[in-house]
Amino acid sequence: MTRTAHPPAAPDDARTAIAPMARTAHPPAAPDDARTAIGGAIAADRLLAPWFTCLRERVGELHVFDSHTHLGCADPDGSCFDAGELRGALDVVDAHAVVFPLAEPGPYRAANDRVLAAADASDGRLVPFCRVDPNDGALEEAERAVSLGARGIKLHPRAERFGLGEPSVGRVFSFADERRLPIIIHAGRGIPSLGRDALKLARANPHTPVILAHAAIADLAWIWHEAAGQRNLFFDTSWWNVADQLALFRLVAPGQILFASDAPYGRTVATAALALRAALAAGLSADQAQSVAGGQLKRLLAGEEPLDLGPAPAAPVPEPGPLLERVHAMLIAAAARLTAGYPADEYLDLARLACELPADHPDRPAAASVSELLRRHAAHVASDPPHRGPRIPGIHLIFVAAAVARTPWLPVPDPGTLNDPVDRARIDFNGETADVDL
Ligand SMILES: [Zn+2]
Repeated sequence: MTRTAHPPAAPDDARTAIAPMARTAHPPAAPDDARTAIGGAIAADRLLAPWFTCLRERVGELHVFDSHTHLGCADPDGSCFDAGELRGALDVVDAHAVVFPLAEPGPYRAANDRVLAAADASDGRLVPFCRVDPNDGALEEAERAVSLGARGIKLHPRAERFGLGEPSVGRVFSFADERRLPIIIHAGRGIPSLGRDALKLARANPHTPVILAHAAIADLAWIWHEAAGQRNLFFDTSWWNVADQLALFRLVAPGQILFASDAPYGRTVATAALALRAALAAGLSADQAQSVAGGQLKRLLAGEEPLDLGPAPAAPVPEPGPLLERVHAMLIAAAARLTAGYPADEYLDLARLACELPADHPDRPAAASVSELLRRHAAHVASDPPHRGPRIPGIHLIFVAAAVARTPWLPVPDPGTLNDPVDRARIDFNGETADVDL
């Protein structure tokens, strides 16, 4: 099969405004080191890890089970992600994951087989779902893949160009309902509303957990209200904007929210930090946050009934105050530009300046934490990380920075611990590994 050309890389001026980081020369890595050297996106994941760890400490025992990740290298958008890279991303937070193929230009049989093989070789870390195309033998491929070990089904109405009301979709749902298999549906950007059809399917197939990906942003405005009575309807958290995350956690019962990254588009550590901040900001308890992080997904994969964790929280989400509201707004503007592949240096520079709060201001620790994330983002961009797929590398640091600015009352890493040598990042500079001074 032929690979579609990658979209153009981000304009060079996305990087030129950022002064190169001082970096320590490092001798060439030994072969073993080379395999474990932190390169590209994993380096950015390591830079973010303390912002996840400080929340995990708040919640206590927390096991992350990512309900939405991909493998593949033929996606028309240029994305390419192999099992080793996925395992590396999961290792940062010691997570398990559900995995299914990225988009393919042709039938999904071979891609599903590759996912099954990757899961087979993962010591149980990866749980395979199959991806099927309702225009091309969906039921047959679902039956085949499930007989070989697939534990759920992914449907992508945008990539495969179909509507959820089509009879072939109904047949896949009936098959899943008989076996209590979850079905995850793309419900993010680039599609018309599909919530009404999804609700109909959830009502008609009560044993199938129906998972709307990307916080169902296309329908979230109203579907939260219907979700309260539909216990097999779930929402995954794979979305970058903290405003949508706060709405999701504020309006939908915690038992119906499943943590997800959408790797490689999202990074597991970044989306875990973002979703945990939103969950705690909305008032979820530690037990509820643990269920969102992975507990509920484990039950669904085992064919068990979901746990009822009570209604959506009633308390309003606190406001960040006027100074950090500015920082948050600038970072969302930057993130919107970066997700579309445009430079955002001016907004990032303004956000950096907006973090310069008076020494005794109560929001100063959160503002300093945002500054540190921006510094790490600049360091990562200056390392010229490989660029695959539509997003500019390191953008996830900006997503988390925006979430910190919006929720300054929640924990941030102790600045003292950030100077610890174990927190230094080893980044692959065009084949040569170097330590980055943080
Ligand atoms: Zn996805």
